[in-house]
Amino acid sequence: MNIEGKKKLLLISTIILLLVVTAYTIVSYYKGEDYKEISYATFIEYAKDGQVSEIELKDSPKLTGKLSNKTAFVTDNPRAENFKEQMLLYDIKVIESENMGLIDRIIPLILMVGSIGMVVYLVKNGSKQAEREMENMANNIDVVNSMSQKVTFNDIAGNEEAKESLKELVDFIREPEKYSRYGARLPRGVMLYGPPGTGKTLLAKALASEAAVPFYAATGSDFVQVYAGLGASRIRELFKKAKKTGKSVIFIDEIDALGKARKGANSNMGSEEGDRTLNALLTEMSGFKENEGIIVLAATNRIDTLDEALLRPGRFDRQIEVGLPDINGRLAILKIHSRNKPLSKDVDLEKLARETVYFSGAKLENLMNESAMIAARNKDKLITMEHIEKAFLNVLVGEEKKDRSFISLRDKKITAYHEAGHALVAKKISPNNRVTRVSIIPSTRGMGGFSLNIPPDRIYKSKKDIIENIMIALGGRAAEEIIFGKDNITTGASSDLKKATEMVLAMIGSYGMDDELGLINYEVVANTNLSMDTSLIKRGEEILRHFYSQTKTVLLDNIEHLHALANQLIRKESLNEEEIEELVNGIQNITKCS
Ligand code: ATP
Repeated sequence: MNIEGKKKLLLISTIILLLVVTAYTIVSYYKGEDYKEISYATFIEYAKDGQVSEIELKDSPKLTGKLSNKTAFVTDNPRAENFKEQMLLYDIKVIESENMGLIDRIIPLILMVGSIGMVVYLVKNGSKQAEREMENMANNIDVVNSMSQKVTFNDIAGNEEAKESLKELVDFIREPEKYSRYGARLPRGVMLYGPPGTGKTLLAKALASEAAVPFYAATGSDFVQVYAGLGASRIRELFKKAKKTGKSVIFIDEIDALGKARKGANSNMGSEEGDRTLNALLTEMSGFKENEGIIVLAATNRIDTLDEALLRPGRFDRQIEVGLPDINGRLAILKIHSRNKPLSKDVDLEKLARETVYFSGAKLENLMNESAMIAARNKDKLITMEHIEKAFLNVLVGEEKKDRSFISLRDKKITAYHEAGHALVAKKISPNNRVTRVSIIPSTRGMGGFSLNIPPDRIYKSKKDIIENIMIALGGRAAEEIIFGKDNITTGASSDLKKATEMVLAMIGSYGMDDELGLINYEVVANTNLSMDTSLIKRGEEILRHFYSQTKTVLLDNIEHLHALANQLIRKESLNEEEIEELVNGIQNITKCS
C-alpha cells in the first residue's frame, strides 16, 4: 500500500473510533434517564434505614447512587460540608468523582466537535487530494528536457519532405517576434500522420531540440479518463505548464484516442466525456497568443478517423505525412542505427535496404539492435551478416501474415507498372503536369503505391483538363492490361475507376460539356420527380471507354519509357521529380522488366 493509502486507512479508523466512543459516551450519559428520582428527605430516610448501598459524589446539583435492591436513584446534592462523613457513618459506600459532571458533559462535546472537525477535514482534504491527484497525473506527462536528450534532424532519415516542413518551424519557435513584426502567424498545430514506427515522435523531439525549447509529451489515452472532467482538466494542466515555461513544443501521440470523429461511439469513454476533453483541447489551442512560440504537434496512424474539428484552421491545420521509407531512406536509417555498432566488413547495408521493403524505421532499428544482441550473446567481436540474417527472421516472426514485407516480386511489378502508367500518361499528354513523386511504397492515401501529380493551378478547369485527369486516372489499369494481359488486370484500379467515373459524370452531367447530352444539368433532374434518364450513365460509359482506349495508345506509343519507369521503381521503390523527368524524356532502350 502506498503512503496515501495508509493515510486514508488511518483517517477512516480514527473516525470510526471517534464515532463509537461518542455514541457510547452519549448513551452512558443519558443512561441517567433510567434513574429513579427521589426527594432528598426520602434519600435521607433510605440512608438511615440502611437501604442505600452506594452514592456517587460529584460537584453537580444532582447526586446519584444505588439502593440495596440495585435501583439507581438520583436526588438533590446538598453539597454540605460533612455530608460525606455522615454517609460513611450510615455505612454507605461513597464514590468520589469530583469533576465527573463536568467531564460527562465535556467529553461528548469534545468528541462531537472532534468528529465534525474530522469529517470537515476529510471532505476538504479529499477535494485537495483530488486536486493533487489531477496535478500528479498532469505531472506524469513527460517534460523532457530536450537539451539533455538531444535528437537532431540528422538522426532521422528517409522523411525528407516531413523534415523540411518541420525545419521551417524551428525558426518560428526560436524567434516568433521576428515573424510577428511582419504580421505572420505561427502555426499552432501540426498533425503528423502515417504508419506506426515511422519516426513521428522522433520528428517532434527533433523540432524541440533544434529549437532548444522544452518538449512536453503526452499520449491521447492519458486524457481518456474514467472520472468525468478529469480528461479535460489534464489537458488544461498540460497547457498551463507549457504556458508557464513559454516557448515549447507540446506533443500528443495517438491523438485519435481522444479526437475520434464524434459521430461514432467512442469505445473508450462516454461520448460526452470525449467531447468535453476534445473541446478542452480545442479551447486551449485557440487560447494561446499567436506568437508565444508554443507549438502543438500531434501524431496519428489514422488521420481519416479524426474529428474534423481538429483539422480546421487555427488547430492542426498543417498536416504532414510521415510515410514508410523507400530503399534510400532505409539505407540511411540502417546507417544511423549502425553508427555505434561494430559491423563486420561483410555487412552489406545496401543489400539489406533492398531486402527490407515496407520496413518502418522502428523495425529497422529493431533489426540492428537484435543483430547486436545476437552478436553479444555469441561473444563475437563484430556483427556479421549471419547475425543480421538471424535477427531478420526474429523480427519477422510473429508478424501478421498480411505483413507487407513478404510482398512477392510479382505484386511489386504490378504496382510498379500501375504507378508508372499514371505518371507516364500525366507527363505525355500534358507537359504542364508536374509529377513530383512516384512510389511503390504504400502511402496512407492508397494501398499499392502512389503517383503525385500536381496539375497546373487554375481557377477554372477546362474540358481538356478534366479529360487529362480522367486519362491519368485510367493510366494505371491501362498499363496493367498492356503488360500483363486482359485476364490479369487487378483490383488495384478500383479507386482510380471511382475517380474517373466521378469526373466523367460531372463533366457531362453537371458542366454541360458533352455535345450529345447538351447543357442539361442532371443533378437538377435527379432532384425532381421526373424519372431518371439512364442516358447519362450510358454516355458516361461510352466516354470512359473512348478515353481508356486513348490512354492505352499513349502508353503503347511510349512503351519503352513505361518499362524504364517501372524498372527503376522496382529497383529504387520511389522516384523524385528529376528522376521521373529523365526517364520519361530520355532515350530509352529498355525492354519489359523480367
Ligand atoms: P508510433 O506511430 O508507433 O508512435 P512513431 O512514428 O512515433 O511511431 P517513433 O516512435 O518516432 O515512431 O520511432 C520509433 C523508433 O524507431 C525511433 O526511436 C527510432 O529509433 C526509429 N526510427 C523510426 N523512424 C526513423 C527514421 N526515419 N530515422 C531513424 N530512426 C527511426
